[in-house]
Amino acid sequence: MGRRVELLAPAGSLESLKWAILYGADAVYVGGPGFGLRANATNFTIDELKEAVEFAHQHQKKVYVTVNIVMHNQEVEKLDAYLKELEKIEVDALIISDPAIIQYAKEHTSLELHVSTQQSTLNYLGTKFLKELGASRIVLAREATKEDILDIKKHVDIEIETFIHGAMCASYSGRCVLSNYFTARDSNRGGCSQICRWDFDLLENGEKKQGEKPFTFCTKDLSMITKIPEMIELGINSFKIEGRMRSIYYIATVVSTYRNVIDAYYEKTLTSEMIEDAKKILDAVANRESTVQFFDGYYGKDCQYYNGRLELSNQDFLGIVLDYDDDKQLAKIEQRNYFKIGDTVEVFGPNHFVNKFILSHIYDEEGNSLEVVNHPRQVVWIRTPQPLHVNDLMRMKKKIDKMSIS
Ligand code: SF4
Repeated sequence: MGRRVELLAPAGSLESLKWAILYGADAVYVGGPGFGLRANATNFTIDELKEAVEFAHQHQKKVYVTVNIVMHNQEVEKLDAYLKELEKIEVDALIISDPAIIQYAKEHTSLELHVSTQQSTLNYLGTKFLKELGASRIVLAREATKEDILDIKKHVDIEIETFIHGAMCASYSGRCVLSNYFTARDSNRGGCSQICRWDFDLLENGEKKQGEKPFTFCTKDLSMITKIPEMIELGINSFKIEGRMRSIYYIATVVSTYRNVIDAYYEKTLTSEMIEDAKKILDAVANRESTVQFFDGYYGKDCQYYNGRLELSNQDFLGIVLDYDDDKQLAKIEQRNYFKIGDTVEVFGPNHFVNKFILSHIYDEEGNSLEVVNHPRQVVWIRTPQPLHVNDLMRMKKKIDKMSIS
């Protein structure tokens, strides 16, 4: 069998990059200080990029940096210095959308070049063109069907990356100016304010239609967990998870769930029950409905929300395991959400599935018994029926409430 498919995770901070790698990502993509498409809060400084690359390379993993802005003149003169800086740091690839930047980077650096999904590549002619320009990998548009992928693989010998999980755009990714018009935030310069998820009133002759629910353009999320075997057999080289703004809990959960399914596929131990369980975990953490979107070649009404959306509240992320005392059967936890004696909690980690147990004893750092843990980042010890491991995560299923939010 050839090289295994790469699992590629998002990271909006050094902390989430480390958790993504720890929980099984083969590579991580990040935004640098310039030329990216996400808000500044989730972009890395040059020093953080250096640390990220060092950490990833120590673990034999890769770091890709987005250079996928829609470029205006003022950015052109800064391009050369920026690309050279990324080359010096030894990032593993750039993710670029503008063919001019691909050509420039090819001529002036020796960096590996991936074409961003912002380029909306859906056919082999475009793929061939981008390969000839210098790209070694194409991140296909989220709108690619399996027939599109097969055809591209048949005609062009190039690495193909596709999205497997996360939010969708109601337009071809980023080719939308709703955000610019409504909030003066440019979605192609990192500012999308997700107008497609807002509620809009329906008007008739300028009057709000009575009795009509508000309308939204909002799409459901993408989840390809049930299609992993089929996608590997199509010869896709990299599976990408969306979400550089997501929490470490979300990243760890989604990455480890796909890691387990991908590994089980290659080890020939994957069962339909495992896929079903994985789907339940992903549905709970995402807090939104999901579909396989365009993959099967049919994009129907089930892929879209129209009148607000029903959300099922997900699990609470309770804390991180910092240490474990085998003799006393106590785990040291850093709190992230309120928990108390009597709660049924679950713990999962990079290399093992969920342990479920009822919290029977909680102690503070001085050994005093506690009933509740309600201070942010409070460090406590809890009694556990099985040993836990450093960097395991503890969560609790919340009672399911239905609420309408867009
Ligand atoms: S407003 Fe919606 S459709 Fe437009 S770029 Fe943002 S996410 Fe995409």
